[in-house]
Amino acid sequence: MQETVLRAMLETSPMGIFLWDIQGNCLYANPKCGEILGLGWIQALDGLSAELHDRQLPFSQIIRKGDSWIKIILTPFMEGGCLGTLEDVTIEKKAADEKNQLLNALLENFPIVLFRVNREGTITLSAGNGLRVLGISDHALEGYQAVSITPWVREFLDQPPKGIVTFFSSENTPDGEEAHFQNSILSDLEGGIIGMSLDITQIKVTEMENAEKTGLLNTILEHLPIIVYKIDQAGYCTLSVGAGLKALGLREGESVGSPNHPFRRAMNGELETYTEKMEDRGGGGYYFQNTFFPDPDGRGGIMGVALDITEIKNAEVAKQQFLSNMSHEIRTPLNAIIGMTHLLLAEQVPPEMQENLKILKFSGENLLVLVNDILDYSKILSGKVSFESIDFSLRDFVQSIRQSHLFKATEKGITLKMKLDSDLPDRLNGDPMRLAQVLNNLISNAIKFTNAGSVTVDLTLGEMGPQHVTIDFAIRDTGIGIDPSLKEFIFESFTQASADTTRRFGGTGLGLAITRSLLQLQGSDIFLESEIGKGSLFYFRLRLGKSQKETFSVSNQLFGETTGEKKDLAGYKVLLVEDNEMNRIVAKKFMTRWALEVAYAQNGVEAVGMMEEEHYHLVLMDLQMPRMDGYEATRRIRALPGCERLPIIALTASVEPEVMEKIKLAGMTDYMSKPFNPNELYAKIAQHLSL
Ligand code: ADP
Repeated sequence: MQETVLRAMLETSPMGIFLWDIQGNCLYANPKCGEILGLGWIQALDGLSAELHDRQLPFSQIIRKGDSWIKIILTPFMEGGCLGTLEDVTIEKKAADEKNQLLNALLENFPIVLFRVNREGTITLSAGNGLRVLGISDHALEGYQAVSITPWVREFLDQPPKGIVTFFSSENTPDGEEAHFQNSILSDLEGGIIGMSLDITQIKVTEMENAEKTGLLNTILEHLPIIVYKIDQAGYCTLSVGAGLKALGLREGESVGSPNHPFRRAMNGELETYTEKMEDRGGGGYYFQNTFFPDPDGRGGIMGVALDITEIKNAEVAKQQFLSNMSHEIRTPLNAIIGMTHLLLAEQVPPEMQENLKILKFSGENLLVLVNDILDYSKILSGKVSFESIDFSLRDFVQSIRQSHLFKATEKGITLKMKLDSDLPDRLNGDPMRLAQVLNNLISNAIKFTNAGSVTVDLTLGEMGPQHVTIDFAIRDTGIGIDPSLKEFIFESFTQASADTTRRFGGTGLGLAITRSLLQLQGSDIFLESEIGKGSLFYFRLRLGKSQKETFSVSNQLFGETTGEKKDLAGYKVLLVEDNEMNRIVAKKFMTRWALEVAYAQNGVEAVGMMEEEHYHLVLMDLQMPRMDGYEATRRIRALPGCERLPIIALTASVEPEVMEKIKLAGMTDYMSKPFNPNELYAKIAQHLSL
């Protein structure tokens, strides 16, 4: 019974079991041996016996058999025999091999160091790629006392850690740099420690660089007039940092408000930058230049950087002010020079002197154009130009433009025609001053560069909308023409078609640059068709508003017509209010020539006083004067009995829209630009006296 059980156990055992006698002859082998060793297993077992039977027992080894790995264990058995077991360990062996390979690959390639220190403090293992930065090869440290290499080991040997302990250390590399490690250690069961060190130098360096960057950013935000902010999609400020915050007044958690706020428009992609002026609570005006980009978090908000450009802006304003003052200062003596020249030319002077005087007049007028152009151009460049919305009559406007060029054209024997499409509405809304500037430039060029024939200005209807109308303007002349290859060139600043233009015709080469800029600022552009000797055609299209007013009460006297016929001005009394003596002398000389009675006041206060004393038929009013300026003086004169309709003509060096507006508001009847052309002055006085 017992024997059958034993036999059954041997026959079904999951291990191969065999028995050798003292000579190594196989006495028994269970069927599993056949399974493990495969075909020809009897010979295989004999072979093993020949190879192994005189080994010292017990003995154990893993041997290879084909693709399999077999673990063989031999133990002594009765009278010098030997009991053996066979086990197929292919799977375990392969797994172990793989693990080893992986470990080796890790050690070989990754910046790690594996180490082991026994309880006596001797390094028993040290390997891994992480050693290389330190110039140490694998296993080179083995056998050394750990404390002499990494003093921190002592602490762990003295007090074995519970669980894994992680800490950082740094070591010197052979190049004198620092390498940084993150170490994790664990005590082994024999009182020693095992551990792994990870070289984190790269991370550390990046971290330090980042810290430096962050520090730099913070310094920038603290010291520069910059604000960085985020606005989420709902329009709330979610972040705002930086010096100068006080001024921008954008706090975290606050809503940016209305749907057409620039921040909202930036969110819709309508704006990339904008500059705005803000008042802080103390009333100071700050300028911020804002630049936007989509919030990198991708939730549809925006990030913005606001740069405080108040100082730059203020400097710009100061420059503008300086330019404006300077050109005013220059224009005043120029007035006198040009006026005097006119006077001299009107007197009986010898022909050779006439020639000199003409040159003087030409140069003086040219200098004046230059000063005006430079002032205009600098305004355009600094983005200071704004456009008005004023109701005006197109017909009156065109008429006054024609009038102001008629003299020059007639003088040159050229006909000047203005043709208006009959479909064009008369009551428009826009900026007649700027439009006049454009047309005056083009018409005066046309007249200047035409010696015979005509200059024609055509206004035709482009499109008619309910609120707007587009008008095509064409200015045609029969003059010298322009070389087509210079088409683009002449629109640039300070360029003229030929080198002798200034000498022959005057000008600065700024006129067309200003003209084009003014049109481009209104969403239009200017075009040219021309050939040398065949005249030129300049044309542009402009969109203007239609006046929405029922009754058209706007005074169009500013564009009032001047007639050419000579009227008798004798005996009329004119009050000239002007602080500049030179201007006074020039104006007075002309007016006395026309038999007017001229009195003068040096400033507004004097003028008002004189008006209270005596009746004058007409007042010529300078604008900028000490004590009381022309605007205030006009308002006071208008309040005097009988002066409600008195012609008061402003004398102004500037034809800026703002100045024009102020002139109107103060209640002045008309204006004359300084230095005045005597013919124009005569015509204006005559026109207003006959009212
Ligand atoms: P400028 O002050 O010299 O007139 P512009 O910018 O107005 O400056 O004109 C630039 C140049 O273009 C002129 O100097 C002239 O050579 C040329 N030009 C402009 N208009 C005409 C025209 N109607 N006929 C011929 N040449 C012209």
